[in-house]
Amino acid sequence: MLLTITTTHRPATDLGYLLSKHPDKCQTFSLAYGKAHVFYPEATEERCTAALALDFDPIGLVRGGRSRNETKGTLAHYVNDRPYAASSFLSVAIAQVLSSAMKGQAKGREELAGREIPLSATLSAVPSRGGEQFLRSLFEPLGYEVQTERITLDEQFPEWGEGNCFRVRLDATVRLSDLLTHLYVLIPVLDNQKHYWVGEDELEKLLDKGGEWLKVHPLREQITRRFLRHQKSLVREALERLVAGDDPEVVVHDQEGQEQEESLERPLSLNDQRIAAVLAALKGAGAQRILDLGCGEGKLIGALLKEKSIAKIVGVDVSVGSLEKASDRLKLDRMPEMKRKKVELFQGSLTYRDARFTDCDAACAIEVIEHVDASRLEALERVLFEFAKPPTVVVTTPNIEHNVRFEGLVAGKFRHRDHRFEWTRKQFEDWCWGVAQRHGYAVRFMPIGREDPEVGAPTQMGVFSK
Ligand code: SAH
Repeated sequence: MLLTITTTHRPATDLGYLLSKHPDKCQTFSLAYGKAHVFYPEATEERCTAALALDFDPIGLVRGGRSRNETKGTLAHYVNDRPYAASSFLSVAIAQVLSSAMKGQAKGREELAGREIPLSATLSAVPSRGGEQFLRSLFEPLGYEVQTERITLDEQFPEWGEGNCFRVRLDATVRLSDLLTHLYVLIPVLDNQKHYWVGEDELEKLLDKGGEWLKVHPLREQITRRFLRHQKSLVREALERLVAGDDPEVVVHDQEGQEQEESLERPLSLNDQRIAAVLAALKGAGAQRILDLGCGEGKLIGALLKEKSIAKIVGVDVSVGSLEKASDRLKLDRMPEMKRKKVELFQGSLTYRDARFTDCDAACAIEVIEHVDASRLEALERVLFEFAKPPTVVVTTPNIEHNVRFEGLVAGKFRHRDHRFEWTRKQFEDWCWGVAQRHGYAVRFMPIGREDPEVGAPTQMGVFSK
């Protein structure tokens, strides 16, 4: 089993610092089931590749009683894919041999360890019964470009057909610690077998390594289930803790909260005014292909569908529940074919780079940013303004100054219990100016709803253009 990691960040040989393994040396580490070798097939200023090769002892595995029970007493007990296929053994090797790199520690290159750099990982053989599609669905939402090649079982006996293993290459601009963490969690998920007992420890490891990104991964339930080997109570606990309380990005569909916000704002029919203002901004920009990020139940989509000038509407939300509601509310299944073709809905997160966000001429995030943890705003900014970078971006968010005018709202409370923050006009404008400056956009602001001379309008809108 061979894992290689390549960077073209310059000087590329800094990879040695990031991995705490000198490029000029070949090092060998003894692990419980064999040896791990780390060496560098290439190490130049422009390009550096580190390799982690597992030299696996299948007989030792049998003697050590670590093999899977279901193969005991059969030939498969001795002859199996463990020596060459990526499996939980690789995760253990990563955790033991590259532990400081996985934690994001790099003596002498601390700052670089925290930076996203171009990285490419190749895995010589990855088992995936779910085929190429499953592989893609695990890595693409994390921003990787995925290349796969199915491995023929034996070139000399083509009639044996193709196996379940793939050569895989993953490319992304990521932190090395994130790449290692993604591999650590997802390789055993693909393999769906573990060579060691899965208990509370594993649950803690999963939450520790996967916590941040797993919460918003479209396949988080499947990943959790497989990582924890289908142990129901552990899986339940892990999912509860992932989704728990204050996590910004896991939005379990929150009907009650939604109604709470709507009833507060109803006297102003703020929602209708917001949609009208957004429509006006989009039409003013001449936008025809619209991306609605955090589309919720599809209220804006419904309004956009009535506009003849709009050719394509793509709605994205992290919450499957919301997307299902949107599909119901819009009656997509009963819509005439021509109209239906204009709409596409998919699950995704606006804090993860996604190739599907690039094909639009305007993106909207209507009452969404305040649902995202402040610490993730930087990621949102890059996804939207650096990678997707549509010519127009419309963002709306509550104006917290106005909250004192809502009779039903307890002082000091946000309008919705899932809001991570609510901003004053100055805070929102400062954020927008910063974003605009960093990414070459112009921005203008508009109040939405009745403007109060003292505390301003209930909603604020920023329209970015370039
Ligand atoms: N834009 C809609 C819904 C606003 S509620 C409207 O104006 O009616 C906020 C929505 O953002 C919710 O549907 C929530 O699921 C979604 N959301 C929260 N965090 C998200 C993220 N990181 N990526 C995509 N959607 C997100």
